[in-house]
Amino acid sequence: MYKTCKETLTDNECIIHCDFSENYLCKSNEEVQATHFGASKQQFTLHTGVMYYKNEQTLQEKSFCTISPNNNHGPTAIWAHLTPILEYIRETLTNINTVHFFSDGPTTQYRQKGNFYMLSEMVKKLGFQKSTWTFFESAHGKGAADGIGGAVKRTLDKKVTYGEDIVNAQSAYDVLQNCQSKIMYFYISDEDINTLEQNFDLTGVIPVPQTMDIHQIITTDQEHVIKYRKIACFCRELLCECFGLQEHNLRLKKQKRKHDEDKKEHHQEKMYSKTTEATIKRR
Ligand SMILES: [Zn+2]
Repeated sequence: MYKTCKETLTDNECIIHCDFSENYLCKSNEEVQATHFGASKQQFTLHTGVMYYKNEQTLQEKSFCTISPNNNHGPTAIWAHLTPILEYIRETLTNINTVHFFSDGPTTQYRQKGNFYMLSEMVKKLGFQKSTWTFFESAHGKGAADGIGGAVKRTLDKKVTYGEDIVNAQSAYDVLQNCQSKIMYFYISDEDINTLEQNFDLTGVIPVPQTMDIHQIITTDQEHVIKYRKIACFCRELLCECFGLQEHNLRLKKQKRKHDEDKKEHHQEKMYSKTTEATIKRR
């Protein structure tokens, strides 16, 4: 699927394959020498990935890493991390109007109603027309995004052994910015994440039935309406109807529904939100 998407990528499309790396624990040079690590180590977040786009018929790739002192990995945080990447594309690759996101399967951080909602809102807000989000099967797809996280951590560890102290996200960012590297780095402040939290109310977003079986989300021109299917497809232009593409309104007003349908939704919503509630409602 990933391969098909890459091979058929047009000049106005790009791919973003992203993943949260495991949080980095702050280190100082003395601690490394003493091999002593306290239990209450300060840690920070690394969101990493690779973007692919076409330039004069050839596939180009660029790696990125966003660094934040805020360890929220919920939907609004995801989009705070993605925003500078999308702004970069908007500014430097001006013919791109479609973004295909890819992420690894088992995790609930990307495959959940809050992220679907943010996708449908943010992609348009940042000046793109169309987007898809494809979820890899659990065993598949690890690599590109994961590899960047590993490379960034090795760079930081090496700097520590050479005497640098990585005491927080800011110092890590400063150190990484000064490295000769092909990776693009951006710093995501608490404020960046809090601003999105304030601007997007995720309470009451209606979950997509059987969310955990979904392998592809496609945004539409209609506000709050997404399409989804259990098997991803890139056979031709976006929105092919293969594999039983279905439609879902993330904000459908409840009074329009029949009473028992209403109850069913509510029950499903409760079930699906269990795992994600903690991250969404972190205000
Ligand atoms: Zn198709």
